Amino acid sequence: MGKQNVPELFGSLVFDDRVMRARLSADVYQSLKRTIDENVRLDESVAEAVAQEMRDWAVEHGATHFTHWFQPLTGVTAEKHDSFISRSPDGGVIMEFSGKELIKGEPDASSFPSGGLRATFEARGYTAWDPTSYAFIKDHTLCIPTAFCSYSGEALDKKTPLLRSMQALNRQAKRILKLFGKDVKYVRTSVGPEQEYFLIDQEMFNKRPDLIYTGRTLFGAMPPKGQELDDHYFGAIKPRVIAFMEDLNAELWKVGILAKTEHNEVAPAQHELAPIFSTTNVATDHNQLTMEIMQKVARRHGMVCLLHEKPFAGVNGSGKHNNWSMATDTGVNLLSPGETPYENAQFLLFLCAVIQAVDDYQDLLRLSVATAGNDHRLGANEAPPAIISVFLGDELTAILDAIKTDKPYEGTEKVIMKLGVHSLPRFSRDNTDRNRTSPFAFTGNKFEFRSLGSSNSIACCNIMLNAAVAESLKQYADVLETAEDFESALHDLIKSTIIKHERILFNGNGYGEEWVKEATEVRGLSNLKTTPDAMPHLLDPKNKEMLISQKVFTEAELHSRCEIMLENYCKTVKIEAQTMVDMVRKSYLPAIEDYLYHLAETTALMRSVSEHVKCEYEVSTLERLSELTDVILERVRELEGALADVKAIEEVLPTSEEIRDHLIPKMDALRKCVDEAEMLTSEKDWPVPSYGKILFSVY
Ligand code: ADP
Ligand code: MG
Repeated sequence: MGKQNVPELFGSLVFDDRVMRARLSADVYQSLKRTIDENVRLDESVAEAVAQEMRDWAVEHGATHFTHWFQPLTGVTAEKHDSFISRSPDGGVIMEFSGKELIKGEPDASSFPSGGLRATFEARGYTAWDPTSYAFIKDHTLCIPTAFCSYSGEALDKKTPLLRSMQALNRQAKRILKLFGKDVKYVRTSVGPEQEYFLIDQEMFNKRPDLIYTGRTLFGAMPPKGQELDDHYFGAIKPRVIAFMEDLNAELWKVGILAKTEHNEVAPAQHELAPIFSTTNVATDHNQLTMEIMQKVARRHGMVCLLHEKPFAGVNGSGKHNNWSMATDTGVNLLSPGETPYENAQFLLFLCAVIQAVDDYQDLLRLSVATAGNDHRLGANEAPPAIISVFLGDELTAILDAIKTDKPYEGTEKVIMKLGVHSLPRFSRDNTDRNRTSPFAFTGNKFEFRSLGSSNSIACCNIMLNAAVAESLKQYADVLETAEDFESALHDLIKSTIIKHERILFNGNGYGEEWVKEATEVRGLSNLKTTPDAMPHLLDPKNKEMLISQKVFTEAELHSRCEIMLENYCKTVKIEAQTMVDMVRKSYLPAIEDYLYHLAETTALMRSVSEHVKCEYEVSTLERLSELTDVILERVRELEGALADVKAIEEVLPTSEEIRDHLIPKMDALRKCVDEAEMLTSEKDWPVPSYGKILFSVY
């Protein structure tokens, strides 16, 4: 790829505002814009006009098909392509696309997970255009971002509740801003997700059934070198990776994704990509698209992009950082400390809303990132712990302390701060003391939620975050709207919120053992270590009430989601266990046996030549390996037994608990003895490439 004109390339395959303004009539453009900005219903004639222009534009740009692009609960995106062709009377075809086809699609919903929703409700589903996320062209197909619902209106995807949660936050934030004398059109949440991934050679990948079937290695002895030297993090990027990144950036830019930052990560072969932030639903679409394009582009370069949370034991896994904030239509960031006393009070109120939300709904945030893959990371000293807490930094913490105790803040001005009257001390916004061990950190003008797994859809955590913050804001608005003296009510509200929720604030080392003790025993914070521990809390009465009253989920949707997420966990681990059994029986045991045969033959041969040779190496290796094959056999039988036990359970929650308590320990035990055997077996006899080869093979 030679020199390119990035501004020209950027968004060249997107039906974005530039294209709409240039191609739509003024009326149509204005009315579509109102739908996008203010959520006003779109009328059919407008949809018809937009559809015509979209089709013409798409065909001009090489598209032959269109699809409603949606995000079912499988976690990946789904699309069903239809071509634009329509029979014309002269025997040929014309390219057609109607307003109806733009607005609504009817994919066969029956093969997507619905967690019981389909048993009780209509089997079919429909997709509905989300005009706030631009249509784009991918692989000669016009992709129309959509929400996916059942005919009875139940959401069957991640986007519908995400849009609802954004609406909830918009409603409540506007109420608060009104109290501060600001009449804004809308408040939207914005997200910038930092995406981690591994790149490995495709040939290595092809030789590892565990990577092929499960996305992670289920066996593998440690290489002599891992990430000890910290020489990979921010290190010079290797030429093959550079070529990949250039190609990837171009592809992302074409579909309007603001790919911005790229660097090597901590583990060998690990990298990160961060876009410039955008509105949450757009950021979500873009992150899904980024993950898909990463994998596709990697293949073009003879590599495979691994998005699993823990592809390799012993080196860091991959996560995703969800940078989140709220902003008005005029671009004012509500989490940016203000310039005037009044703005500062407003900032503090929004800050409190987030603190309270995280404290009240720790479990929802935790479960929103719970997957079988992410269970390997959280609490494993490479990612934030499963305990959710908020990092504010010393200065902001001191300010909150001063407000809480009515004591002077030891900053520049020694006054007792009365909000709305006194200036808040200016505190530095630089990020020097950022605490990487905190799951939820304030980083100057946004919060960074760091517990996400690399393959998670960011929709899940943002649904919970938006809903929970909307709930805090609702409670505040209820109080403040009826207050006689707004300023003193505001002061009291902020003060009481700090007192009530300060247990969630923690600036210390989140990786430490002491923190676990303090958090759980002294502060009473929840520590939900695994997916089966976390997920059932979705149905706790307080969580259900909030999510239903904020109109983010219906009761039936919550039950179905809990079911689907647990089912997902069970299926994932069962496939892993089955893959282990397969690899051990079909590859590892026969390979070790070949090597044993070689050792035995060699020993016998050597001894036939001379009676003085000791064959110490051959005999001791043979003895240990032979012992190990017996252990491996015993453990693989145990794993098969555990797998049978799991399969015998019908209900999903007890199944997941059985997996957590019995199946996973058996998998770990089996891995241990196989990894030991790997260390004793000749590399050329080992049936799969070693960790060292996989992690250090890309240049
Ligand atoms: P770091 O790796 O130091 O955490 P990066 O610069 O890689 O930081 O990523 C920060 C992310 O936060 C970027 O995606 C950036 O666009 C995003 N971001 C910045 N401001 C906001 C905001 N107001 N709302 C949401 N995301 C934001
Ligand atoms: Mg970050």
